[in-house]
Amino acid sequence: MTTARTFEETREAAMGTVALVPTMGFLHEGHLRLIQHAADRYESVVMSLFVNPTQFGDASDLDTYPRNEERDVRLALEAGADIVFAPCVEEMYPEGPDATVSVDAVTEGMEGDHRPGHFDGVATVVTKLLVGIRPDAALFGRKDAQQLAVVRSLVRSLRVPAGIEAVPTVREHDGLALSSRNVRLDSEARSRAVQLSAALFAAADLIDRGERDRAPLVGLVHSLLADDSTIDVDYVELADAATAAPVESIRRDAFLAVAAHIGGVRLIDNIFIDATSGRVDRGQRLDGPSILYGEA
Ligand code: AMP
Repeated sequence: MTTARTFEETREAAMGTVALVPTMGFLHEGHLRLIQHAADRYESVVMSLFVNPTQFGDASDLDTYPRNEERDVRLALEAGADIVFAPCVEEMYPEGPDATVSVDAVTEGMEGDHRPGHFDGVATVVTKLLVGIRPDAALFGRKDAQQLAVVRSLVRSLRVPAGIEAVPTVREHDGLALSSRNVRLDSEARSRAVQLSAALFAAADLIDRGERDRAPLVGLVHSLLADDSTIDVDYVELADAATAAPVESIRRDAFLAVAAHIGGVRLIDNIFIDATSGRVDRGQRLDGPSILYGEA
């Protein structure tokens, strides 16, 4: 079986050690990296494909979210997935508006403030996937740094017996973090969007030179983005990687995050700072154009 529609079918098809890669589809190389990471380490890789309505506050964002199941199944299998779990809304939410998983402190600030209800939707659907599929591990991208902290928190708190593994951010050739939403950027917005990663990389250079304090790092990103009046910044934040709480200086693992609207599309990005080594993880760039464009 390659495409499963129910939790039961998915559990029956998954053999041996099982890794879960949750996605909302319209795959790009960031998703494929998660699948490859899972396939190298686990006997069965389940990729879930579900555009989760409860994590969208904005109905038009949900309506215009790009979808192409046939393409996603093909790409997932080529990358090493064994099963694509693509449920309908009723399989995921059989009781209609049902039990909700709500994670406290980690969801405050940043995405939690700007997208009310978003993390309840994420935490609820991730819990359903972990409980319903019972994988040994689930993989998430560092690109969504606060989401990663939320998932780690809920797994610890609810004692879900699954390991959570993180994979670095994959970027387009010019540095823009890959996102399924990038296909909604028109060419002008696309050319401006690179400024988000460029501003973070400038801050990364400052960290490489020894800077650890919030004010100069956050200030630099704000000032670089302020040069372009068409970039509408939601926030720039230096946060603890585990708690997602704002920090005044980098003493433990942290991330420097930005969220902004460009050409009607909301984009997020971050760099991860390993406090022990002092190294900044800027992610990995593609050599050429992403499969998001062209290859359909
Ligand atoms: P999504 O389909 O956007 O919900 O993302 C599914 C998973 O892929 C999440 O764990 C994301 O953090 C991860 N992801 C999304 N974009 C990237 C990226 N550019 N690099 C690495 N992982 C990513």
